[in-house]
Amino acid sequence: MKYSEFSNIQGKVSKLGFGLMRLPKLYEGKEDIDFKEAEKLVDLAYKNGVNYFDTAYVYHGGESEIFAGKILNKYPRESYNLATKLPGWAIKNDNKTVDELFNEQLEKCETEYFDFYLLHSLNRDIWNTFKSVNAYENLKEKKAQGQIRHLGFSFHGDMELFKELLENYEWDFVQLQINYYDWEADNAKDFYKLLEDKNIPCIVMEPVRGGSLQKLNDEAVEVFKKLSDNSPASYALRFVAQLPNVLTTLSGMSTYEQVEDNINTFNECKPLSDEEMKAIDRANILFRKNFSIPCTACKYCVTECPKGIDIPSCFSAFNEYNATRDIQDLNKTYLLIPEEKRANNCIDCKKCMEHCPQEINIPRKLSNIKDLTK
Ligand code: SF4
Ligand code: SF4
Repeated sequence: MKYSEFSNIQGKVSKLGFGLMRLPKLYEGKEDIDFKEAEKLVDLAYKNGVNYFDTAYVYHGGESEIFAGKILNKYPRESYNLATKLPGWAIKNDNKTVDELFNEQLEKCETEYFDFYLLHSLNRDIWNTFKSVNAYENLKEKKAQGQIRHLGFSFHGDMELFKELLENYEWDFVQLQINYYDWEADNAKDFYKLLEDKNIPCIVMEPVRGGSLQKLNDEAVEVFKKLSDNSPASYALRFVAQLPNVLTTLSGMSTYEQVEDNINTFNECKPLSDEEMKAIDRANILFRKNFSIPCTACKYCVTECPKGIDIPSCFSAFNEYNATRDIQDLNKTYLLIPEEKRANNCIDCKKCMEHCPQEINIPRKLSNIKDLTK
């Protein structure tokens, strides 16, 4: 395993971080973690040198933090970094205080401190919520008391807010969505460069864009196959890991094979050659032709939907269909979604939309899917 060292970060951090948001589940369509299977993945990663584990209040319907606490506790506390995040929407919608949430998180994670603590998924609305309860000042105080070792935020807002945050507050790190799909097209590059200029280490989320840069489409996969047997995901991970200001790259691993593949990638972590960079550009172009809904399956929308629609699975089925335009392909995957969670149950209330970091017009896309599957 390769490690990063930054002057403002205590200790070495593995270049591969384990995102605990897509763990193996007990039942399809539900969030309950299969603790036994998921533990095997965490153990494999830990034994191969991964020392950064990233959870959040909302992952797996709140179970991810409990899992992190139970499973990581068997290892010496100082041997790994535990990261979690403060949910602004629980302050806004459920009237919880920062202290209530933070103490609940400490208890669930069975720890006395967090190595990395983030204000979760900042955009203007969520930042205003945090400002209204002095969350930043509160967390700085917790850092001074040793309950937080590094304070940062994950970001899904615009450049104006990003600059405001960097200019007016002190941060130890920032977490950004970076991958080759978003690098130029979604200005990920500009956000990254700004952090680099300010010497603030960057943690990368969604390097494989919720798994879509592993699946790709046949034409794009073929481009990588011509180079080697390495997985498409390994190219996507190396694309971000080679950036000098990246502290760690988070991968939300769901299977033993994914953990093994990612460990192999980060044992070497070679910078991409010119030929490999050209292959990424080519695959990106071919993939973009067919990839129509940029959903990363983060599921932030799902908890807000009064109808319990499985939005990411509907979008994933649609994207698979879009790659072939064969309606049989859509029906095959779409019909695996329980009937009550399908697109046709959407009542267009738009509650999901304010939670989508990718700014997808969810009800409109669901309506398209509904029309297609009539
Ligand atoms: S618009 Fe549709 S998908 Fe979104 S929250 Fe409302 S019912 Fe759910
Ligand atoms: S629609 Fe948006 S919020 Fe919902 S899972 Fe996809 S990316 Fe996440």
